[in-house]
Amino acid sequence: MSRVRYLGLTALLSLSLLGCQKAKPPEPVSPPAAQVSAARLTKAAEEPGQWMTYGGTYAEQRFSTLAKITRDNVKALGLSWFADYDTNLQQTGTPLFIDGVLYVSTAWSKVYAYDAKSGKQLWQYNPKVPGEWAAKVCCGLVNRGIAAYNGKIFVGTLDARLVAIDAKTGKEAWSTVTLDDANRDAPIQRYSITMAPRVVKGKVMIGASGGEFGVRGWIAAYDAETGKQVWRFYTVPGDPSKPQENAALEKAAKTWPKTGDWWSVGGGGTVWDAAVYDPKTDLLYFGTGNGTPWNDQHRDPSGGDNLYLASIVALKPDTGEYVWHYQETPADTWDYDAVSPMMTADITVDGKERHVIMQPSKNGFFYMLDAATGELLRAAPFTDVNWAKGVDLKTGRPNVVKEARYHDKPWNLQPGVQGGHGWHANAFSPETGLIYIATQNAYFPMVADPKYKHTDVGYNLGLDFTAPMTYYQKNPKEKSGFVGYLQAWDPVSGKQVWKGEENQGPTGGALATAGGLVFQGGGSASELRAYDAKTGEKVWSVSTQTAVLAPPITYELAGTQYVAVSVGGPVPGGYFAPNYSRLLVFALNGKAVLPPTKEYTPPPIDPPAADASPEVVQLGSERYGSYCAACHGQNGQTRGATFPDLTRTPLLHTQEGFNQVVLQGGRTDKGMVGFDSVLKVEDAAAIRAYLIARATELKNAPPPPGTAPKQAHEEK
Ligand code: CA
Repeated sequence: MSRVRYLGLTALLSLSLLGCQKAKPPEPVSPPAAQVSAARLTKAAEEPGQWMTYGGTYAEQRFSTLAKITRDNVKALGLSWFADYDTNLQQTGTPLFIDGVLYVSTAWSKVYAYDAKSGKQLWQYNPKVPGEWAAKVCCGLVNRGIAAYNGKIFVGTLDARLVAIDAKTGKEAWSTVTLDDANRDAPIQRYSITMAPRVVKGKVMIGASGGEFGVRGWIAAYDAETGKQVWRFYTVPGDPSKPQENAALEKAAKTWPKTGDWWSVGGGGTVWDAAVYDPKTDLLYFGTGNGTPWNDQHRDPSGGDNLYLASIVALKPDTGEYVWHYQETPADTWDYDAVSPMMTADITVDGKERHVIMQPSKNGFFYMLDAATGELLRAAPFTDVNWAKGVDLKTGRPNVVKEARYHDKPWNLQPGVQGGHGWHANAFSPETGLIYIATQNAYFPMVADPKYKHTDVGYNLGLDFTAPMTYYQKNPKEKSGFVGYLQAWDPVSGKQVWKGEENQGPTGGALATAGGLVFQGGGSASELRAYDAKTGEKVWSVSTQTAVLAPPITYELAGTQYVAVSVGGPVPGGYFAPNYSRLLVFALNGKAVLPPTKEYTPPPIDPPAADASPEVVQLGSERYGSYCAACHGQNGQTRGATFPDLTRTPLLHTQEGFNQVVLQGGRTDKGMVGFDSVLKVEDAAAIRAYLIARATELKNAPPPPGTAPKQAHEEK
């Protein structure tokens, strides 16, 4: 119903009720919010002024036909308005723009709505995730996006709820706990949600993370009106001695061990990012994550493929019924989740029009599959790859380098476990025929942990997570590091066409437009950039004061094209430094100015004397790797801006204070739970000794000034 009709009805009612009395002016009645229907979603490309779903349209190409901002006028692009978030940490959310309102999710699964004309905040929704849940979140307290349908905004929360919010008021309409029905409080329920829901024909599709800890991966559909579960598809089998839930899982069970405890501790295969609905095939595609533990020698010594780990799977969205799958990394042992963003497209391949689904994967290969059948059409490396020498297009299997499985000795993996590409959104321009990939060159030494035992607290990986430091000290000539950059990739020829500049750590997601531009955040370089989509020439950039990891969107309001992006991420100075998390909105001739940045000096590295024995430090290193590195990074230094740098904590000066936090949970409200169920007093002493040793090393050889904090292990 239009605004005019609403006003008309109200006026009419007022007149008839009041009769001849002097009529008061009617209260303005605004139209309902987020009136996104199934038809509107299917035809989203016909409304380029809106951005109604995570990837722009169901195809998730993140391509806009808006063309008012072009490579010729982009130099005049300036800040139109901005809004500060009340949460810092890392921002990874794709905003939605629907009928004049911008909706965006932030760290801690909060959601904001803004009047896009004035920039005024309309509401904020806070799901109040308990701080202690942070211990069940592998890779940052982030949220990548939301979905809209029929007056509601949907968000998945870190504590694994799916929530519907009234788009008009910001009030909770319903909230559903998505945890597995069985063993609700068991450690195996260490799920969290960071992905954006997708709505398909009145059902909200969502999956959950947790594969680093040990959960059973799934994707499920919920009724958008009631929050009731409609179906759930598990990605890995359950108890092998019992019948599986469906024929697809019976088939999968044959690729897993018949015995062992792998199933009771999860198996992995979590669905934590990519999901694409395709109206042409009426299929829902999603990617699945790594196995638990990572090291397949501990998960399945028989070397089975372990379906459906590290796969793209196609289901019928009405019923959750399996249709096809393609496993990118059989018997994954490298944390090669196949969950990186995907998109559908119509492309001429080998002289034939093909309707395809494409994914630049964490394992370093770019995959193109027939969307209806899953037939593999292309698989080519788009970054440094040393675990496989190509992929056989006939069998679909990678030619794995045997030594890369690190059974006998360490392997300097390329791409490392950070991936050749993470969750950072790609864009595809049908005008250039190029896909713009947020690429990573990353290296990570895989060192098996022969003493691995499953733990109910911390990671379950089966490898030595503190290895990088010592490995590169012993092997200084090996390639190391982690850089991100945007590259334009020809999906048919399998060749790079151009490459943008590099930044430390992951780079930001991309947006392509019919203005001949690709917008992209420069990760830790703290700028938003525009490239010429054809040539890669950098034609515009602006300082954002903080890292830009989230992808920009574009929309039109009152005849003006805008570009909006959520910023906030790793900044020099770490956890306690000002983070400047905001929504930034740009337009041609925008004149708004950000307030100046604040001076900040991180606390000094000032450890007490390092007097522990090498054996104690070694024990501390092992315990730290098992229980602390997940959040605090591999070597005690801050993991991005998300968690404190332990080499600088004053707690190093007192074992009693250290124990209060580490064992007794003195900072549970901030997400640091007590570990006294798994760590003894002597373990805590050893961890402190290890951190003192690390801090002493760093104090004696500090990194060069201005070095961005190492993002050794981004969301994975
Ligand atoms: Ca993973």
